[in-house]
Amino acid sequence: MKNFVLRALSLSLICLLLCSCSSNQGEQGSKTQKFTASYIEYFDTVCTVVGYEETEEDFNIVADKIETLLSNYNKLYDIYNTYEGVNNVKTINQNAGVKPVKVDNEIIKLIDFSAELYTLTNGTVNIAMGSVLNIWHNYRDMYVNSPEEAKLPEMGALQNANEHTDFNNIIIDRENSTVYLKDSKMSLDVGAVAKGYATEQIAKALIADGVTNYALNFGGNIRTIGAKGDGSDWSAAVTNPDKESEKPYLMNVKLNGQSFVTSGSYERFYTVDGVRYHHIIDPKTLMPNNTFTSVSILATDSGLADVLSTALFNLSYEEGNRVISNLEGVEAVWITAENEILYSQNFKDVITKYY
Ligand code: ADP
Ligand code: MG
Repeated sequence: MKNFVLRALSLSLICLLLCSCSSNQGEQGSKTQKFTASYIEYFDTVCTVVGYEETEEDFNIVADKIETLLSNYNKLYDIYNTYEGVNNVKTINQNAGVKPVKVDNEIIKLIDFSAELYTLTNGTVNIAMGSVLNIWHNYRDMYVNSPEEAKLPEMGALQNANEHTDFNNIIIDRENSTVYLKDSKMSLDVGAVAKGYATEQIAKALIADGVTNYALNFGGNIRTIGAKGDGSDWSAAVTNPDKESEKPYLMNVKLNGQSFVTSGSYERFYTVDGVRYHHIIDPKTLMPNNTFTSVSILATDSGLADVLSTALFNLSYEEGNRVISNLEGVEAVWITAENEILYSQNFKDVITKYY
């Protein structure tokens, strides 16, 4: 809970910054009023919407639609909770090795997207890794508040679990809209994909409605739709992973229709013998990789940005650069454990300020 409050606080700080440069004196015909709404019930995080509209009524129509969609995606992609009348990812996991589960097409689309990204990231983000991720999740939960007793999972147990992470054992029957996990010991963990994918689907639904001049910040997963109401860029900050530093942020970036997503090792971790073990697990070692403390991705597609921010944690700077170099409009900034800042080729073009 404490972790959650801290997380919420740090995310709201990012948002504060995101909204701080708004103008109330727009040009004629521009939308001059800024409105905000926040939700704490979805994706275990704080979801904030900032939008420019002529009237509060107009904003409320959009905000209500966003909340309805958020609530729906949250139910479908939840791996921990069940909802009456809904077959979700948890239902698929509960029926591993038992039977195919009839699901909403949005779940099949999420799995298809994850399959594409599994290939693109050379297997470094694998939603079929639930068995391994579960072990880490349980240890983190058990010891997060008692570092003096904290232990690491047994490598043998991780390796056994890793025998049940084959993506090809996710069987999709499109005709009947079912998903079946062929291996009874496997499970899906969509934590690296679901929030970003849902953010992007919601943004696409709004764009189709003609919505513009909005910024969605779903737990640090930022997606802008157009510019601000006066036509100027949005601004987002890169958090300083070094919590001992007096600088809470490292730099600001400008956004106009793009996403900006960060994965940080400082958000969810536990400590064993003075060493931090964070929540992104490298499939090659079955351990968290401590090369970087933060990776942020700039891309139009928020789902892509979310997956890549996790993937690049598990790749070297060179490998990560190679993955994004083929992707149009995708840029990255890495912060290393030694507080060194590394950039992809054109990332500096979007930086508006260094702290
Ligand atoms: P956040 O949830 O803080 O935004 P990420 O987007 O980086 O963080 O996703 C981290 C989550 O993804 C973890 O909590 C876990 O559920 C899952 N995960 C961790 N490592 C992997 C991996 N190698 N492949 C797939 N999913 C992963
Ligand atoms: Mg991610």
